[in-house]
Amino acid sequence: MQFHELGRMRVGKVFEMEGGLPLPMIFPDVTGTDLARLADWYRDPDMTTSPDSSMLMLSMHSFILQIDGYNILVDACNGNHKQRSVPPVHELNTPYLENLAALGFRPEDINAVMCTHLHFDHVGWNTKLENGRWVPTFPNARYIFSAQDYEHWSVQEEEPVHREAFNDSVLPVVEAGKAEIIDLADMTAVHHEIGDGVWLEPAFGHSPGCCLVHAQGGGAPAVFWGDVIHHPLQLIRPDLGLMDGDPVAARTVRQRLIDRVADSDTMCFSAHFRESSAGYIRSDGDAYRFDFVEP
Ligand SMILES: [Zn+2]
Repeated sequence: MQFHELGRMRVGKVFEMEGGLPLPMIFPDVTGTDLARLADWYRDPDMTTSPDSSMLMLSMHSFILQIDGYNILVDACNGNHKQRSVPPVHELNTPYLENLAALGFRPEDINAVMCTHLHFDHVGWNTKLENGRWVPTFPNARYIFSAQDYEHWSVQEEEPVHREAFNDSVLPVVEAGKAEIIDLADMTAVHHEIGDGVWLEPAFGHSPGCCLVHAQGGGAPAVFWGDVIHHPLQLIRPDLGLMDGDPVAARTVRQRLIDRVADSDTMCFSAHFRESSAGYIRSDGDAYRFDFVEP
């Protein structure tokens, strides 16, 4: 099986690549006790119970969500052939489109692309290189971007890699007339009225306009949380943030999401967890654990 089935929905994962950094570089105050607790339920060959010898590995993948005849791609990874100032994702050449094809989809089958936020590792496959130009990879898709992120990344200069991605993976989509730039400020009311279909909810913090993608089709709900939670370790230590633009807001959003979906039937789809990348948050003493679910 390649798909999770939830009522009228099917969800599959399109793998791109994995990468990581030494744990102390990312989360310097993680303790051996935290890691021992994580090791109770999370088996990762790159993570030991010693912080100094552990790597924090992240998966890069998209999800393909099928509902009511629509094929929706959630997040778009790094992309191929992109010039990036971050070496691990510079000029990639991964079989991402082949992995999409293995799930049964051609690029022209995608009806919508929803980016949880406009960081470089979530927008790359929005475009592909064709005759020296960046063109939309998914020619029949509308691409949904939040106005808050769009406006921010169109002017910010501090983090070059996001600017590079904005220029080659966001702007060409806008110029091709394929983008829908949505103001998320008033989306909370909409969220509460809709209990079926696919909808967005603001989750500002990791980036100025990042959002959750919710979906439900007559069965259990699903949430695609983007980078609100990067790694299972943050269920032991929700106080830890990873490259959050507004760390305080991001932490609040993370804790609220965890409290809301823990011990519920909401299936969670993580943008960066390894293994199946999908499962359920469960209470575990004074913290949480993730029950991974295979499709
Ligand atoms: Zn990310």
